[in-house]
Amino acid sequence: MGTLTHFSARKSASLGVDFLLKKVNKENREEDMVKLVDLMEKYMDDDDMGIDFDEVRDMVADKNGALNQYLNRALDELDPHVLKTTVLNLGFEAMLSGTKKMHKMRKIHDCNIPWLILMDPTSACNLHCTGCWAAEYGNKLNLTYDEMSNIVSQGKELGIFFYMFTGGEPLVRKDDLIKLCEEHKDCQFLAFTNGTLVDQAFCDEMKRVGNMMLAISLEGSPEVNDLRRGQGVYGKVMAAMDLLKKNGLVFGSSICYTSKNCASVVDKEFVNLMVDKGCRYALYFHYMPVGNEASVDLLPSPEQRIYMKNRTREIRNLRTGEGLFTMDFQNDGEYMDGCIAGGRNYFHINANGDAEPCVFIHYSDTNIRTHSLLEILQSPLFMAYHKNQPFNENHLRPCPMLENPGRLQEMVKETGAKSTDLQSPESASHLCAKCTDYAKTWKPYADKIWSEEKEVTTNK
Ligand code: SF4
Repeated sequence: MGTLTHFSARKSASLGVDFLLKKVNKENREEDMVKLVDLMEKYMDDDDMGIDFDEVRDMVADKNGALNQYLNRALDELDPHVLKTTVLNLGFEAMLSGTKKMHKMRKIHDCNIPWLILMDPTSACNLHCTGCWAAEYGNKLNLTYDEMSNIVSQGKELGIFFYMFTGGEPLVRKDDLIKLCEEHKDCQFLAFTNGTLVDQAFCDEMKRVGNMMLAISLEGSPEVNDLRRGQGVYGKVMAAMDLLKKNGLVFGSSICYTSKNCASVVDKEFVNLMVDKGCRYALYFHYMPVGNEASVDLLPSPEQRIYMKNRTREIRNLRTGEGLFTMDFQNDGEYMDGCIAGGRNYFHINANGDAEPCVFIHYSDTNIRTHSLLEILQSPLFMAYHKNQPFNENHLRPCPMLENPGRLQEMVKETGAKSTDLQSPESASHLCAKCTDYAKTWKPYADKIWSEEKEVTTNK
């Protein structure tokens, strides 16, 4: 099969989306969706992404299937410019073209090159949630606009076209975020936000640039949510979602699950509510006991974790799912070959400029103010990740902190990385000691599931 150049493939993808959007007759949309899948397969040529394109074509064409209905809803509900820009930037530039380049760069530089970078524009926040890691940095740290733009420019050279923001509350810097979207038109941006600063003026800006998505924090029921985030925050989040949906923008929710809210954040009623509100995805994060004061009581039990794993997969099933794309990062390691941190698929830059392997791992030996992106990826700490990944052959036990607590301590000791927590630095041994019992308890459950699932796959 002949290869397509970047220019001609982007052009064809752009025309394909235009055709889809113009189709008033929804009956025939499937034909064009299948053509887009064909184009994707042709462009990726011999770059193996582990995608079964025949199965994708089949699911896209199945009008009764969850994937087909998900795509049709997006076509009906999203602003055309936003939809097109998202498909081109996230789908084409980041997932296809960027991945090709990233694979090449990994070989050339012999280190991890990530698919996305997460950064904190600011440590400031307009809320004061219990247990928020942002509180550790204080509220006076900021990355300048030029620093953030420089990271994106360096990233693009390495094939990175997807950037996420957390904080602090990133929308405290919403003008700068929109400016980044304008300056880097070929990239996709996503902000993790508490949602309380979303207003019509910001929606207008998001619509104009087209390449900004949101993930809004939710904790489950209004009572649980407001207990942690503050009185009235749940109502503000619902209002923000209504406004974003009305404006045809792309957003989803970001949910930290704990021993206290596990069942409620995946129950049918809650999922239906998110779909009705216009969420396209729900990103689930397992609670991590990070910080000197963090409680271990919030760690989910093995039964709760297994329930989360099964339910999130049921919700996102592409044939029988419930209309929401879910990711449960701690339980989805098998799709990523384990831990994604240390630049393997992503890393985190805090508001002080420190490069951390993961948003939950607050140790660093480099800073964007003294090191280039490539120097960060080749630093002792990131190379230790590179050398040691995966940290466990069982991808249900992916983490060097949570499920393999000895591994993080070794890497921090061996590389001399320092705590980036400016207010109350926590030693790696203190952090990892909080995970030892959890890791021991989870191991037999995880090993049993892993071997049973492997057996099923082998016997298929
Ligand atoms: S370090 Fe742990 S929490 Fe971070 S990506 Fe790796 S497995 Fe996940």
